[in-house]
Amino acid sequence: MGLSGWVRNQVDGVVGQVEGEKSKIDHFLARLSSEAPSSSRIFSIIPVEVDSTDRPTGFQIRFSQDRGDQITLVPPDLRLCDDCKNELLGESRRTGHPFINCTLCGPRYSIIQQLPYDRVHTTMSKFVQCSQCQKEYIRLSDRRFHAEPNACHECGPHYIFKSLAGDFSGMSCVSVAVDVLKKGGVLAVKGLGGFHLVCSALNEGAVERLRMEKHRDQKPFAVMFRDRDQLVSYVSLASGELDVLMSPEAPIVLLVNPPYRSLAPNVNPGLSQIGAMLPYTPLQVLLMQDSDIPPLIMTSANIAQEPLIIDDALALAQWGERLDGVIVSDRAIHNRCDDSVVMIIDRTLHMIRRARGYVPDPQYMNDVVEGIMAVGAELKSTFCLGREKLALMSPHIGDLRSPSALAFFEEVFDRLCQLFRFSPRLMVHDLHPDYESTRWALKSGLPCIGVQHHHAHIAAVMAEYDVRQKVIGIALDGVGYGDDGTLWGGEWFESDLLTYDRIGHLPYLTLIGGDRAVNEPWRLALDVLIEHGVSDVDVIRLFSDVSPEKLVAVINARRSSVPYVKCCSAGRWFDAISALLGYCSVQEYEGQAPMIMEQAIDSIDGPLAPYPFGKGAIPSFYPLIAEMLIDIEAGISRGLMSRRFHDTIITIIHDWAVVSRERSGINQIVLSGGVFQNRYLLTRSIEYLKSSGFEVLCSERFPINDGGVSLGQLAIAAARMKDKESICV
Ligand code: ZN
Ligand code: ZN
Ligand code: FE
Repeated sequence: MGLSGWVRNQVDGVVGQVEGEKSKIDHFLARLSSEAPSSSRIFSIIPVEVDSTDRPTGFQIRFSQDRGDQITLVPPDLRLCDDCKNELLGESRRTGHPFINCTLCGPRYSIIQQLPYDRVHTTMSKFVQCSQCQKEYIRLSDRRFHAEPNACHECGPHYIFKSLAGDFSGMSCVSVAVDVLKKGGVLAVKGLGGFHLVCSALNEGAVERLRMEKHRDQKPFAVMFRDRDQLVSYVSLASGELDVLMSPEAPIVLLVNPPYRSLAPNVNPGLSQIGAMLPYTPLQVLLMQDSDIPPLIMTSANIAQEPLIIDDALALAQWGERLDGVIVSDRAIHNRCDDSVVMIIDRTLHMIRRARGYVPDPQYMNDVVEGIMAVGAELKSTFCLGREKLALMSPHIGDLRSPSALAFFEEVFDRLCQLFRFSPRLMVHDLHPDYESTRWALKSGLPCIGVQHHHAHIAAVMAEYDVRQKVIGIALDGVGYGDDGTLWGGEWFESDLLTYDRIGHLPYLTLIGGDRAVNEPWRLALDVLIEHGVSDVDVIRLFSDVSPEKLVAVINARRSSVPYVKCCSAGRWFDAISALLGYCSVQEYEGQAPMIMEQAIDSIDGPLAPYPFGKGAIPSFYPLIAEMLIDIEAGISRGLMSRRFHDTIITIIHDWAVVSRERSGINQIVLSGGVFQNRYLLTRSIEYLKSSGFEVLCSERFPINDGGVSLGQLAIAAARMKDKESICV
């Protein structure tokens, strides 16, 4: 544009100086956002006029001086861009090069070892660029200008297919792998943030074998489709889904419509919907080029609750002799990162599992959060570091009750501390004394702050939208530790970041058998029946799939004076009703029972049809259960009963909101907690509340489930610290 100036990366964004005619500069500023690269994220552009003696001619990139504790942001890993894909598949010097990338695509977070983000600080450092790559790297007009992982056939890394039949590299690595997959084989394949286990999603035998190897009986698998055409030949996409599937982040999208062409039935047992993704690495694109390649299962190559495998030697030791091949490469993965999972509601993205493509993008906070380490919850663990005004959330870590996940937590913590030059001064943890994360925080020897679980859920959303004033907070969740020592999870709050009033909650359930009641929802349903006056004979009749001896034992336990733990968790209520309606009496993974019940809902058209219930701050479910039992006896469609139960919960949320608005004047409502991963519940709740004029907020960029708790903890701790300072002043 005939302007001159310079640009530099710094922690709070990009700073540049532009010199030239005023009208040209205005045009430049407009083009800056309208023509920004697809992988960039512009939050705001703040022009400031300066008088400067520093007047460069031409254009300079000024390198971030390494100033001790200063940091720059680390970009997330991004899917192969269309230009690179065309080069990969067309005629170019990188035809078939499985590590092709440019400034718009390729690995970032997964390969970076330290700041600043330069090639020497990544796992690409051992590959010296050939003269042609080097030319691209230093030529300003080239789309590989400063693409740190830049590489080609000559100078870049290589994949090797290793199997008992021998090793294959180059193009035969791909062709041999494709052959194995088409014949129903199972492979382990190195990806961006870890290894995947891969097999045909149409071959029931292959999927069965993968399930056995991975020790995963029923939890659904995500499916990778070659491209848009292959995907729409299986399932019709809802509005907004394709955009997200094809976005640079390329997450797994939980599609709203069930496939109309069948995949192997054991891909998603008992469920109708699937999680889909499109190829995002050059190798995945190459593997799926064959016109006969079926959709592929792509699931992390770990066993059950173990962390993702990233290491070649470990992958070979684990899978080398058990599978039909392992594809390894000499480009190391430094930072483990799972595939992200999202769903789209009303064209808006809602995060379920936040990792590849999104991590480590920060949340900009209004308060200084420097030195705060929020350790999160326990299941779906993430943690959050505070640097200056940035909240940096770790990738999804998993269930900390597994010792190896806890080791992963520590590994990520060490790496992010190093990467972001972070040293913790304050630990923020859940009130639950038995969470591994709480124990870890308390052991640190640093000052600690405890935060109530559901307050953190609400605060996470407030942080995302920078809300300060009081909101109506509805947290429908699994169980979380309440500040009265009981287990909460169906909460109605009025809260800001500092405080919360618990105005009401769902009725309490008894967890007969403690944790076993979580895995065996029939125990919860049995408690509900006994509580609602159903006779032992009828209870035994209603549970045809549980042995009568077991039922009698549990009934006796329930009627005994043993003080069982009680909770008012919405998640446990959904579990109980799913078991009562006969959908799922034993669940293999968290959320299975409610997912099956939700996906069975008959029709989502028409007005809400709730069951009757006793209105109030603690609603009574006696009328609901009584009528549901009549429906069960009358053989009413279970899909309709499922829908009516959902509609009841939606009506309760709405009633609570109306009461809160009347007493306090608050019109802003936050919905949070893992139960809102239920698409029907979330969609219809938002619709109903909006129709009554409420402003409804729920998380988009951070998980609505326990993965978002760490962000809420950080926001609450920052608010408390600021409050303390203001009191001291
Ligand atoms: Zn590219
Ligand atoms: Zn090269
Ligand atoms: Fe929770």
